[in-house]
Amino acid sequence: MSASPQDLVRPEIMALSGYHVPPAAGMIKLDAMENPYHLPEALRDVVAEVAYGVSLNRYPDASAAKLKSTLRETMQIPEACGLVLGNGSDELIQIVTMALAKPGATILSIEPSFVMYRMIATFCGARYVGVPLREDFSLDFGALLTAVERENPAVIFIAYPNNPSGNLFAAEDIEALIKAAPGLVVIDEAYTPFAGKSFMPRLAEFKNLIVMRTLSKLGLAALRLGYMVGAKEWMDEFEKLRLPYNINSLTQEIAARVLESGAALQAQAETIVAERTRVYHELAGMQGVKVFRSQANFLLLRVPDAPMAFNGLKARQILVKNLHGAHPILDNCLRVTIGTPAENDAFLNVLSELL
Ligand SMILES: *Cc1c(COP(=O)(O)O)cnc(C)c1O
Repeated sequence: MSASPQDLVRPEIMALSGYHVPPAAGMIKLDAMENPYHLPEALRDVVAEVAYGVSLNRYPDASAAKLKSTLRETMQIPEACGLVLGNGSDELIQIVTMALAKPGATILSIEPSFVMYRMIATFCGARYVGVPLREDFSLDFGALLTAVERENPAVIFIAYPNNPSGNLFAAEDIEALIKAAPGLVVIDEAYTPFAGKSFMPRLAEFKNLIVMRTLSKLGLAALRLGYMVGAKEWMDEFEKLRLPYNINSLTQEIAARVLESGAALQAQAETIVAERTRVYHELAGMQGVKVFRSQANFLLLRVPDAPMAFNGLKARQILVKNLHGAHPILDNCLRVTIGTPAENDAFLNVLSELL
């Protein structure tokens, strides 16, 4: 064979740099919006019991019927709607984009937001348009509407609350956007457990609305389970692109059992929300720090020198996300996930020393 990657790989893929996950062994990990808490003891016993009983020699239930019915009951999924499961919601973004990536089709989102919308559009050979937020990370609704009219997007992805800014856009703006959109609108509710706001109850009102969720931020990141809900006729098409066994047996069984046992994870989310308020006020009181209001399990802050603060924290074994350089309105910004009270104190102490 004489071909090199340059000869055969699509140029837009050659130009990509892969999604970078920094090594974190031994560090206080406040960079990836994970829940800092283990499952409660009683649930860990349930997990052990489930793992013992799973038939690892068999393929998973391809339709994940039991898990889907548990999700329908516990997540108030409207009965008339279709439900598609993904190996994380990342995979669902990929499925939606793959299905809609006709030649010339446009994927639209806001910026800065979740980077996978753009990356997956590139993977699928679709055109991507990002509409900038205002400097304070609010939605520039006029600009968004103009862009929607001009670009005629097949799908609009909106993270609600937004990542990396943490704010929740006005529900009236989102509603007006859904009405104005010529195609689908995906409301990505990855942070709903910390925001208490959702478009799930409103699915019946809008034929072009999809609500996407994940269990990752709630405390089950290792299981990789995302789900999306929308009009059945759309979900039936997306289901065709789902690889047959994308949700493994351990994920199916463990997620169902954890969700059935109800309030444990939501109680942890409430602890995290209370800590978010405390950390917000601590940061707001620090000279030189501008912290932004968040409805998610992380805070965005601006410091005088973000790369220096990032490296200083890292040298003290605290890993946050450095967003400096990611987008012009993220100049000197860091994103910190809310951890345990002790982890948050360590972060606050080291940061104040570095300022
Ligand atoms: C973390 C995140 C996801 C991806 O979650 P997974 O289910 O772990 O793939 C999706 N959307 C947003 C906005 C996120 O922040």
